[in-house]
Formats: sequence, structure tokens, C-alpha cells
Amino acid sequence: MKEYFCDVVVVGAGPAGLAAAVSARQSGAEKVIIIERDVRAGGILQQCIHAGFGLKYFGQELTGPEYAERFQVKAAEAGVKVLMETTAMEIREDERLLVCASKQGLVKIYFGALVLAMGCRERTRANLMIPGSRPAGVYTAGTAQKLVNIYGHKIGKEVVILGSGDIGMIMARRMSLEGAHVKAVVELMPYLAGLTRNKVQCLDDFGIPLMLSHTIVDITGIDRLESVTIAPVDENKKPIMEQAQVIPCDTLLLSVGLLPENELSRTGGVTLSGITKGAVVNQFKQTELPQIFACGNVLHVNDLVDQVSAESEDAGHFAALYAAGTLPGGEALEVKPGTGVRYVCPQKVVLDGEEDVTLYFRTTAPGRKTTLKVCDENGELAKRTLTATSPGTMEHLVIKADQLKGLKGTITVTAEHEEVLA
Ligand SMILES: Cc1cc2nc3c(=O)[nH]c(=O)nc-3n(C[C@H](O)[C@H](O)[C@H](O)COP(=O)(O)OP(=O)(O)OC[C@H]3O[C@@H](n4cnc5c(N)ncnc54)[C@H](O)[C@@H]3O)c2cc1C
Repeated sequence: MKEYFCDVVVVGAGPAGLAAAVSARQSGAEKVIIIERDVRAGGILQQCIHAGFGLKYFGQELTGPEYAERFQVKAAEAGVKVLMETTAMEIREDERLLVCASKQGLVKIYFGALVLAMGCRERTRANLMIPGSRPAGVYTAGTAQKLVNIYGHKIGKEVVILGSGDIGMIMARRMSLEGAHVKAVVELMPYLAGLTRNKVQCLDDFGIPLMLSHTIVDITGIDRLESVTIAPVDENKKPIMEQAQVIPCDTLLLSVGLLPENELSRTGGVTLSGITKGAVVNQFKQTELPQIFACGNVLHVNDLVDQVSAESEDAGHFAALYAAGTLPGGEALEVKPGTGVRYVCPQKVVLDGEEDVTLYFRTTAPGRKTTLKVCDENGELAKRTLTATSPGTMEHLVIKADQLKGLKGTITVTAEHEEVLA
């Protein structure tokens, strides 16, 4: 069996893996390898041909492939080795990763530090258990995006979309541009799941109705989808069947959430969070197994790729320090979501850190005049008041480097709205 030795190995050549690998090289790791199962680097961005990427990171509006290409160039310039068509199979003890390469077969990779950047996959009809028949014409929004944008297929004419996440809204616009009639975007919650900017640009601009507090209760069709039945839901999310209505359509797209792809992480015994479904990490993006780091959507689902790049650069930087034996360790405090907050990442803060610590989190409900706060046993550490917040938008607060040594007890993040919207 062939063997490779490296300082840092990264699994996944999406935006997270590319940014982590470049940053690891820039932070002194000599030999950095990326393992990628696809034939091309770039991850999901390859199929996101719309613009809107890179506004924060590059100060320019790029398409997904353009954004990915910039990082591919950076990786090549930094001397990162990318093993394409190679799938990471198992993390073994003694800093070994077992991968299967299309040409070489099984290969062992010995590493100083491992960065997990495998992204996420979409929830499917099976995850939701939508009743009804099983005709053709039901796709996850990402699969539809790939079929339309990469393979150039026309997948349907009369479309209903379940879920108001960003991918669903972007596909509503894409299908309209392809000449389809998008009849509705149906959302179970009383508020939008994705970014407001996507509602304006993808639904409002195309006259596509958004039906909040509704769900699909039946799917009919023998060979091809013929209709879906939608019903409003009560405050317990229970469908009100007396008010159900049938919408004729030939295509249903599901945009009902993403699940971090952590099967590989489990083989190595990485501790996962029950809420994010990603690894439990400290501010260095270091998991509870000190040689393993995680970043990007496999850690927690991000709404903006620019954010993924920034967070992944941290992971690569700290992985390089770990491989060189210079990453601080020692006492860590827990970070917990408090009132109005669904989760916080990282879940731990190491007191010996030398940089500011950014805590990323999502609120539980939309609201106006929201005060975001992070406190420890001694009191308030940071605070911001925003005119509006929503669970679709990732929020953040910063603990300053000079506050770290004095932290005590549990660190708690809260979000209190003056006006709750749902
Ligand atoms: C369908 C879909 C559409 C999206 N559209 C948008 C959008 O329009 N705008 C936006 O800002 N964000 C969008 N996102 C969010 C987007 O995923 C993130 O912004 C970003 O791409 C996440 O980067 P990542 O590197 O963490 O994951 P990914 O881009 O998913 O990359 C993960 C990489 O890891 C590889 N991989 C996984 N497991 C293994 C393994 N075991 N061995 C080897 N390689 C492996 C995959 O092949 C892939 O290349 C979308 C997400 C999805 C799923």
C-alpha cells in the first residue's frame, strides 16, 4: 500500500478545504495535501453559477466557479498538493488517514494534523417522510441545480418548492429563468429560512409567492409528479387538513436543510454536537481529538461562502501550529447558547489563546431591535444591538484576546428582541 507523509492533510477541496490548505502553508506547514473525491476542486460552488459570492472576502461580486477558481489558483501558488478522485475512508489511530484513490487504490496518509472540510449534503424526502406516491419529478434543490447548471437538462415546467432556504430560493429564480412556472415556495415556519436578500432578488423580483406556515401533505402521480397538496399549519406545526389545497405541478424541489457529512469524522471518534451535527470545537477549530480540526459546512452550515473561507483559514492556520507543536492548549471553558440562541460555534474557549475569539451563532426566532450579548460568570464580555435578526442569518460576537485569561465559569450567548416577529 502506498504511503504519504505530510504536516497537514485536508479532506475536501471545496472553499473550506482550499482556504484551510492555503492558510496552513502560509502558517509554515511544509507539506500540505488535500484529498478530494470529485474530479474537480471547488465543491458545491462549481454548480452555483449565479453571482453574489465574494462581496465580503474579495470586495467583488463573483459567481461560484469564479470564487472557487481564485482559491484553486492560491492553492497551486502555495504549493498545496491536491489528490483528486480520492475518497477519505477512515481515520485511524496513530495519525493515519486511509484513502481510496481511483488510480492507486488504498493509500495511507500519515499526518501531523488533519482538517475535516467535507461540506454537507441535503435532506431528502425520506428525511421528511412526506406521504404520497413516488413519481419522478421530485428532486432536492441541489440535485436540480446540478442537473440544470452543470448538465444543461430541462427538469420541469410547473414547479413547487418546499423550503425557503437559500438554495430553494435561488433555484426558484433559476427555474423561472429556464422558462418554468414556479407556482409557490412553501415554508413550514412562520418566517423565511434563508437570507432576505435572496427573497427580494429571487422571489419578489420574479413574482413568486412565498407561503409561510404551510407544508406539503401529499404527493400524487404515477410515472411523473401530477400534483402536491399543501396545507397551512397551526402553532404546533400540525397541518390544518380542512384548508388543504391541491396544486397541479410536474416538479417538486426540496430545500429543507443541509446535514454536515460527518461519517468520516465518526470513524475517528470525533465528538459531534447534537445541534449543529458538526464537530465540537474550540476557537482554534480543534475538535476534542487535538490532532483533528474542522471547518466549513461540515462544522456548521454557513449562509455565506465568504464566511466559510475566513473560518477555514483559521482552521488551517491552527492546524499548522499544532503540527509544529506550537498551538496553545490548557484550560478551556464551555460556551453555551442562552435565551434566544439556537447554537454557538465554537463550543469551547481555550484561555491561553492569543487572538480575539469570534463566536458564531444563530437566533431561534426573527425579531427587531435585538440585543446580542456574551457573558461569563463575571458579567458582560461583548454586546451589539441590531435593528433586526433572523435564524437565516449567522450572527457573531467577539471576545477580545485580553479578556481571555480572566474568563470564569460558563460563557453564555443570548439574543433578546424588543419585538419578536414569529
Ligand atoms: C446544493 C447546495 C447549493 C448551495 N448554494 C449556495 C449558494 O448559492 N450560495 C452560497 O453562498 N452558498 C451556497 N451553498 C452553501 C455552500 O455549501 C457553502 O457556502 C460552501 O460551499 C461550503 O464549503 P465547504 O467547502 O464546506 O463544502 P463543499 O463546497 O460542499 O465542499 C466539500 C468538498 O468535500 C468533498 N468531500 C466530501 N467528503 C469527502 C471524502 N470523504 N473524501 C474526499 N472528499 C470529500 C466534496 O466532494 C466537496 O468537494 C450551497 C450548498 C449546497 C449543498
